[in-house]
Amino acid sequence: MVKLAEWRGKEIFRKYGVALPKGTVVRAPSEVADALRTAGVALPCVVKAQVLAGGRGKGGAVRFAATVAEAEEATKAILALEFKGEKVHEVLLEEKLAIGRELYVSLTLDRSRRLPLAMASAQGGVEIESVDESAITRVWVDPFPGLVGYEKRRLVAAFGLTGALARSAETLLGQLWRIFDEEDAELVEINPLAVVGDRVVALDAKVIIEDDASFRHPEYSDVRDDRTPLEEIAREKEIAFVQLDGNIGVIANGAGLTMATLDVLAEFGGRPGVFLDLGGTDDPKKVTEAFLLMAQAKPAAVFLNIFGGVTRCDTVAKGLVEAMTQVPPESKFPLVARIRGNNEAEGRAILQAAGVTSLTDLKESVQAVISAAGGRA
Ligand code: ADP
Ligand code: MG
Repeated sequence: MVKLAEWRGKEIFRKYGVALPKGTVVRAPSEVADALRTAGVALPCVVKAQVLAGGRGKGGAVRFAATVAEAEEATKAILALEFKGEKVHEVLLEEKLAIGRELYVSLTLDRSRRLPLAMASAQGGVEIESVDESAITRVWVDPFPGLVGYEKRRLVAAFGLTGALARSAETLLGQLWRIFDEEDAELVEINPLAVVGDRVVALDAKVIIEDDASFRHPEYSDVRDDRTPLEEIAREKEIAFVQLDGNIGVIANGAGLTMATLDVLAEFGGRPGVFLDLGGTDDPKKVTEAFLLMAQAKPAAVFLNIFGGVTRCDTVAKGLVEAMTQVPPESKFPLVARIRGNNEAEGRAILQAAGVTSLTDLKESVQAVISAAGGRA
C-alpha cells in the first residue's frame, strides 16, 4: 500500500484543480520564515505533522500559529513528537482558513460489490467511523461513465449545500473522481472538506495508491511505508511476516490457514502478536530464516500450524528443529506444534524427539499455546 502524506496528496489535488489552502513543507524550524514568505502563506497559519496516522487534530499534531515565532515554536514541538509510534520528519505549514462547516467526502473501492464507492456526509472533521450511518450517503459508481451528474447531486444533497456552494461541491466531486480514476487510487478522502466563503476547500488529504499499480508510479518509489524494521527484513527475504499487537507468534502455511489460525486463536482469547506464512516452502534454509525472524519478534509463545499438502510435514519439522538450535537461549520461546497431512507421523516424531509439544487437535493446541503465553487476554 502506498499511503501518501497529506502534502503529497494535496500536490495531486492541486494538479486536478481542487481548492486548497496555500501551503509549504518544512523539515526544520529554521526553514519556517523563508518557507512562509516564498510560498506566500499568510498568518495565522496551521502547523501540521506529516504522519500517516489520522487523528492529528485531537492528538496535538495540528497546531495554530499567529506569528512567525509561534510557527517556528510549533514546528519545533511537532518535529519532536512521536505520533502513534511514527517519528515526524516533515511539517506542513498552511494558511488558516475561516471555516464555515466541515464536511466529509471519500472515494474508495468496495471490494464486496466490486465497485468504487463514494461517501459523503455533512458531519466532517471527525472520524467517519464515529458518524451515524444515517448521516452518510453512499453512491456506488459505475467505473465506465464515472461519477455522473445525478450521482454528484445526490452527494451534494448529503452535504446540505445549495447555490454557489453546491456548484463548487459538484466541481470538487468531478475532480475527486478523476483523481481516483487517473491516479490509480484505492482511497481518496477529504476530511474535512470545509465550507470557506462561497466554495468548498480541501483542508486534509488522504490518498492511497493501489499497490498493483505501483509500477506505473515511479514517483512514489521513495515513499516510506509503515512496515516495522523486522517486516522490512522479512520483505527482503521474501518471507510473509506481519507484526500485530498481541504476544503469540503464529507460523502456518498458506494465507488461508494462516488467517484461520489467527481467528481461532482470537476466538479462544489469545492475542496474535506476529504471523508468518511459510507458503508452499519446506526448504529448511527458508524455514530457519523465518523461525529466526520470529524469535526476534520476542513472542511469549509460538503456535506452529502446518498442513502438509504440497509441503511435507517431516521436512518442515526437520527445518524447524534445525532452526531451534540456532535461536540464542535468551530468545527461546515455548512452541506448540500441530502438523497434519503428508508424512505427519514422521514429522511429529521429529518434533517430539526435539522436545516440542506436538498435538493434533486444533482446539487443544490453541489452548496449549494460550496457556504457554500466560493465559487468556
Ligand atoms: P487529522 O484528520 O489528522 O485530525 P486534519 O488535517 O483533518 O488532521 O486537521 C484537523 C482539524 O484542524 C480539521 O478538522 C480542521 O478543523 C483544522 N484545520 C486543518 N487545516 C486547517 C486549515 N488550513 N485552516 C483551518 N483549520 C484547519
Ligand atoms: Mg482529517
